[in-house]
Amino acid sequence: MWRSSSDVGPAPLHEPFASLGLQKDTRHASQRTVRLLTAVGAACAPLRDDEERSFILIRGSTSLGVRPRRFDVVVVGGGIAGTAAAITLDRAGFQVALLDPLAVCPPDFRAEKLNGEQLKLLRRLDLYECLAMAASRFDRVLNVKRGRVTDATAGEILGIAYQDIVNALRRELRASVDFTVARVARIEAEAELQRVTVTNGDIYEARLVILATGRGDVLRRDLGVSREVIFEKHSVSFGFSLETPWVSRLRNHVFTFFSERTSDVVDYLSLFPMRDGAVRANLFTYHKPGDPWTRAFRANPKQMLLSSMPSIGPLMGEFEIAGEVDVGIMDLYVTNGFRRDGAVLIGDAFQTSNPAAGNGVTRLLTDVNQLCKVHAPRWLSTPGMNAAKISQFYDDPVKRASDERAMRVGQTHRSLVVGTSPSWVFRRYARHLRHGVRSLLAGNPGTLRSERS
Ligand SMILES: Cc1cc2nc3c(=O)[nH]c(=O)nc-3n(C[C@H](O)[C@H](O)[C@H](O)COP(=O)(O)OP(=O)(O)OC[C@H]3O[C@@H](n4cnc5c(N)ncnc54)[C@H](O)[C@@H]3O)c2cc1C
Repeated sequence: MWRSSSDVGPAPLHEPFASLGLQKDTRHASQRTVRLLTAVGAACAPLRDDEERSFILIRGSTSLGVRPRRFDVVVVGGGIAGTAAAITLDRAGFQVALLDPLAVCPPDFRAEKLNGEQLKLLRRLDLYECLAMAASRFDRVLNVKRGRVTDATAGEILGIAYQDIVNALRRELRASVDFTVARVARIEAEAELQRVTVTNGDIYEARLVILATGRGDVLRRDLGVSREVIFEKHSVSFGFSLETPWVSRLRNHVFTFFSERTSDVVDYLSLFPMRDGAVRANLFTYHKPGDPWTRAFRANPKQMLLSSMPSIGPLMGEFEIAGEVDVGIMDLYVTNGFRRDGAVLIGDAFQTSNPAAGNGVTRLLTDVNQLCKVHAPRWLSTPGMNAAKISQFYDDPVKRASDERAMRVGQTHRSLVVGTSPSWVFRRYARHLRHGVRSLLAGNPGTLRSERS
């Protein structure tokens, strides 16, 4: 259900609603919904602290005296984690409100591939089908070094842009979920009843608040939860599309190209075709955002790609980089002080991980599965929502193992590329050697032929 934070009668649907296939349900598209949507603008990223506060002052006076609306659970943030949580709790029979500033998630460079454990978790949450329908599908990853396939991994992979994941999940929301387009300004959480105030002053009350606001920090601080940055600007990732005749070779495969020069501090380049026929490239590096390599890549991505991975040129033949190069900068952080009454953090609101390790979505889907299928239903079946209850989720061995693994694998990825201690240097060369021996033992059948030959 798409509804404003207070119903003031029907109004025509804004374009984004129509693109989500929701145009038939005009009963819940109120004037307020459209106004909020326009007011929040097109930015998915949270406002800065001062911007957010001034916005409250402007809009806070519009709805004084509005009676709070009550739910079992209010989910703040409709990214992958929040939307999946809202769907799962609604299916379990709870009254759920979901709040996000944007009706339709705009393009944003984040996870663009789903595989392995992620697909298992999506199936367990009964969310696989809706994403598979919006994705391109592959069954093999071919690892390439210096123009040779060193090894291959079989297994299903979905290629799908981040915003397509979020929007496909949002289409799965049933009418019983109260999805309101609104930015949350304040959360007051305690052991019985939680209060969530949106920027126009409307209030939502619930027994449990789920904070799924990703990397936004304002609400987390309201809850007294602090962020501990473990590694600032840990990685810089680039996302772009390629125009290449080589696309036909990619049909059922993802190609992973490893850097050919250690000094480039590039982890790998992943190429896969999307549903619209474009070849998508994800390049994961450990440069700093403003360093000369990063600046040079932004200025001339094709030349930098060819100098870092020279064998790509003869393999792919003529290729061009189409459109913009997206840049993603990741800080690695964990949270402290999260054991508190009334509110629980999931996904990137709780912790981030190295994008190159490709386990951010595993982490957040594990959160959703353990919270919404195991813990929250138990908590809601008895009175109160104190910190002892909430802590059961953070102490859940499945969640803990998933978070620890994400952090460990991410750090290993980085150290294998940039580590300077003798042990990492040894491991790096052992890996090069292993790749080389594998392709030799295979009689080099994996050597990729150039598109021109
Ligand atoms: C460049 C890059 C590449 C990545 N690649 C991969 C990959 O290949 N594989 C992988 O598994 N992971 C990858 N990740 C990680 C993965 O994308 C994230 O872990 C995931 O998107 C986090 O989802 P989330 O729902 O927790 O947060 P988000 O997706 O950030 O969603 C947060 C939501 O909260 C909303 N929100 C914020 N503030 C408020 C507010 N005040 N009120 C209401 N709503 C609010 C936002 O509008 C947004 O919709 C990558 C990340 C990056 C940056």
